[in-house]
Amino acid sequence: MAKRDYYEILGLSKGASVDEIKKAYRKMAVKYHPDKNPGDKNAEERFKEAAEAYEILSDDKKRKMYDQYGHEGVSGQFSQGGFQWSDFTHFSDVEDILGGIFGGSGGIFGDLFGSRRSGGGGQRAVRGDDLRYDLSIDFLEAAQGTTKEIKFKKLSACSQCGGNGAEPGTQRVTCPKCRGAGQVRMAQGFFSINRTCDACKGIGTVAQTPCSMCSGQGRMVKTKKLSVKIPAGIEDGSQMKLTGEGEEGMLGGPAGNLYVVVHVKEHPFFQRQGDDIICEVPISFPKAALGGEIEVPTLDSKVKIKIPEGTQSGKVFRLRGKGVPSLRGYGQGDLHIKVFIETPTQLTAEQQTLLQRFAEISGEDVYPMTNSFLKKAKKIFKG
Ligand SMILES: [Zn+2]
Ligand SMILES: [Zn+2]
Repeated sequence: MAKRDYYEILGLSKGASVDEIKKAYRKMAVKYHPDKNPGDKNAEERFKEAAEAYEILSDDKKRKMYDQYGHEGVSGQFSQGGFQWSDFTHFSDVEDILGGIFGGSGGIFGDLFGSRRSGGGGQRAVRGDDLRYDLSIDFLEAAQGTTKEIKFKKLSACSQCGGNGAEPGTQRVTCPKCRGAGQVRMAQGFFSINRTCDACKGIGTVAQTPCSMCSGQGRMVKTKKLSVKIPAGIEDGSQMKLTGEGEEGMLGGPAGNLYVVVHVKEHPFFQRQGDDIICEVPISFPKAALGGEIEVPTLDSKVKIKIPEGTQSGKVFRLRGKGVPSLRGYGQGDLHIKVFIETPTQLTAEQQTLLQRFAEISGEDVYPMTNSFLKKAKKIFKG
């Protein structure tokens, strides 16, 4: 079955605001929540579908990709070459919304948001955020593979408190505002709604004396250097997932992931087409007519190829295995040399005379294509 449009799933139109998306998702999640529809496979599907739609549409970058490229933009595009865009990354956000409705009851969300709920007894670990790094590499680096040093800033564990947020020698204590629940109840009209406690950010505990280095945050921005191995054959727009290289979690929560989006710069004369490379090479009119040899570039050196006499513009010569290695780990693309005939310019008087003379003594038989074209044209325009 074809994948349904994310906007359609949530009953929205394309220009929906962030607020409308949140509201629509909330409605769907309440309606189709498995706790409310036990054993209903259809409801479960709708519930998952809505979560996926929300995951994409609530993230500005992903939503843009989706708007522009559809489902391909957020999955197919990024899963090429064995890199998986498999896990949804903003469940913590989803939980923020749903936390109010299902108030920490565990249930299905206990599984979905395992890392956040894992703290149990009054304190919850927090997963670190995912990060994105845009990396530009040269055409040849993408074709042959390379290792790149990248440098970026991220939230890392505070070196004084080790991520605990409490001044060394002091402890974390139960949050006085929510008494460890991580949530506070707020009255709103007829309903009362649970909100994440802003004093402890939902963790359930606070530092008795906040760490003087990180002001109790447990994390601080540090510059991180990483060596990233780029496999040969990677394509423009590919995304590599570096598990656990995103922002540090808190209180034992796992780190987020780092997504390295690879941008491949253009080459002056090579073009990629999957694992194949196309290279357009000009040849002279006499060489095309008389035949000969030309030297052409490959990824790692140069080779000579034979041009048979009477070669026409647009003829492609294939050099097997001279393309890009396949990301699947076996096989290699081809190099396609496409020749085009360059019309000579800035002729001297002598050259002009010689060409003139050539034209005079050349009959129809040396131009079979022109000849047949003219014959067809005559037939069409006669009557
Ligand atoms: Zn600290
Ligand atoms: Zn609290």
